[in-house]
Amino acid sequence: MTLARPLALALAAAASFAVIPTAQAQDKVLNIYSARHYQTDEAMYDTFTKNTGIKINRVDADDAGIVARLRAEGSSSPADVILLVDAARMASADSQGLFQPIQSAKLDAAIPANLRATPTAEGITWTGFSTRARVIVYDPLRVNASDVATYEQLADPKLKGLLCTRSGSHPYNLSLFATVVERLGDAKGEAWLQGLVNNMARSPKGGDTDQIKAVASGECGVALTNTYYMARLIKSTKPEDQAVVDKVRVVFPNQGTSGTHVNIAGAAVAKHAKHRENAVAFMEYLASPFAQDYFANGNNEFAAAKGVKIDNPAIKAMGGDNFKAETVPLGVVAKNMTKVQQMLDRVGYK
Ligand code: FE
Repeated sequence: MTLARPLALALAAAASFAVIPTAQAQDKVLNIYSARHYQTDEAMYDTFTKNTGIKINRVDADDAGIVARLRAEGSSSPADVILLVDAARMASADSQGLFQPIQSAKLDAAIPANLRATPTAEGITWTGFSTRARVIVYDPLRVNASDVATYEQLADPKLKGLLCTRSGSHPYNLSLFATVVERLGDAKGEAWLQGLVNNMARSPKGGDTDQIKAVASGECGVALTNTYYMARLIKSTKPEDQAVVDKVRVVFPNQGTSGTHVNIAGAAVAKHAKHRENAVAFMEYLASPFAQDYFANGNNEFAAAKGVKIDNPAIKAMGGDNFKAETVPLGVVAKNMTKVQQMLDRVGYK
């Protein structure tokens, strides 16, 4: 009997001792679904775990695969944080109810408002963490720099038979077109899209890198690309890539007016996140200067956080170290996306 009480206490203590670490172990987890797969991102994840003790489990897939998986999993989804590229894709996933709103004074302070979802009373559903500019590349032997200084000029009949782009419905183009339509209004916006179609050198096909190469080969005179595709070619050690770089020039459009269109790689907290606090902590970590450098530099992008500058020689080489960026809120991409797709169908932009 004399032993019973201490034993009971010891068992109780052991039981509570056993419960606490298990609960902590469960809490110290963050499940990320990511459409990013860059080697340099690894160090960024490791440092978060070192700083917080929160273990990261990651599922890598492309944007469409992640969205399909979240939809299939529904409320039983283990996903806490979703990383996608492009405002159009963020907006599309958001409209399917896959994210939840969050409030964070740290994010509000760090990330410019135009790079986030339009806020509601509950907060924001997604935010950008790095930016990429959509620039014009051209063949200086066939096209004058002064004729391709703006997106608007791409619809000028002067460029007939010279323009190449990837599909108009690709999220990179949809996002750009959504902000141009926002600026020009519906009638002028649709006329501009018609002008692009009229100027095509070929039916839209391939990715951005294919457009750059087609300008270098002479099949096209002018094209649109995200900056990091150009940066990859600039950094490439392959002679054929260097030959492409030598033959094309890059323009950051609309420097005298609205600024160059920038898009985002972004993040959101999943609708059914089981580790919501960890998810918000990770989002805030992504906005820190240390993580910004990894997140943006890993793919030759630009930092999204205010006052953070990425030192990248390839970006400098194309004149991207100090350009005027468009300030149309990327939330308008969500608003205009369906309308722009309908315009593309009407003007026959494949
Ligand atoms: Fe891309």
